[in-house]
Amino acid sequence: MSAPSTNTPAAAAAAAGAAAAPKEETMLDRLNDSSRAFLRAYSQRLLDVADGPAPFGLLSAPDHESQPRLPQLLLVAKCQTLDSLREAHALGQVNFGENYIPELCNKALLLPKTIQWHYIGILQSNKIRHLLQSVPNLAGIQTVTSERQAQTISRVMGELKASGVRAPGDRLRLFVQINTSGEDTKSGLDAASVDTAPATSETDQTHPDFAVMRLIRQIQALDHVAFEGLMTIGSTEESYADSGYNSDFARLHALRERICTTTGLHQGIIGLSMGMSADFEQAIRQGSTCVRIGSAIFGGRNMEAVQQIALQAEEFRKQQASSS
Ligand SMILES: *Cc1c(COP(=O)(O)O)cnc(C)c1O
Repeated sequence: MSAPSTNTPAAAAAAAGAAAAPKEETMLDRLNDSSRAFLRAYSQRLLDVADGPAPFGLLSAPDHESQPRLPQLLLVAKCQTLDSLREAHALGQVNFGENYIPELCNKALLLPKTIQWHYIGILQSNKIRHLLQSVPNLAGIQTVTSERQAQTISRVMGELKASGVRAPGDRLRLFVQINTSGEDTKSGLDAASVDTAPATSETDQTHPDFAVMRLIRQIQALDHVAFEGLMTIGSTEESYADSGYNSDFARLHALRERICTTTGLHQGIIGLSMGMSADFEQAIRQGSTCVRIGSAIFGGRNMEAVQQIALQAEEFRKQQASSS
């Protein structure tokens, strides 16, 4: 295992602690050399590409197929310590994902406001207002499945702009979640099989892509959100199948092709958020534009960290309340 780097205060504190206390592996230790290198290389590429015109979530211009494709990295913060997250942010990582609203609110409260948060958990309509109000640096939601949700998000964004919490030009970046594996436990709109023929018209209600195309159009018509693409969580079996081909990712990719054929939308405006620790390399080979990675970079999940962060957030809120 590598010694933690001491170029951040968090890392220095961890190193000092490790010298005094008996050897116990911290989450920071688990951010091993290859994870750090991966994160650094990724951050550098992101900074390089950020100079160009590439839109969020799509870092490889589709017109320049010869350039290597590099998806955006969403670093998944769930069950990680504040120190690990701070260090990743200090290394240049800006976009973080979280799939549990109370944890997202706590982390957003305690971590730098220069982080851009993306919600990737199941979206309940009655939690949207709370989420947007509690996390002023929320940049996106990847799990939208209905027009009602998109409308609520846009309406609340409008209110937050009116009260000065959000900048006038802000649009929350939305992905539509697709259930590519067909598992009951996964949320999302249905995806047809890869060999489905594209619909001849967007208004063909009998075509399996109809609901997805309609939701995309509805999102595009709203004032305070932006349509970013399609998101999926592949089945675990597909992640671990060593076939060199993930049929869930193939289904998401084929869905985008059909939608573009039918609607005339350019592929470049429909990102594909797919790939987690177990399957991100395969996802990249199959056209991912956004990988969501937690444990491959941070190591396993730490339930103690969740509790500690909750206590710290509670303390912080008390102080805020008593000083106002
Ligand atoms: C937890 C989670 C991830 C990251 O999972 P890892 O296996 O830790 O990389 C990605 N996407 C979603 C929706 C998640 O809930």
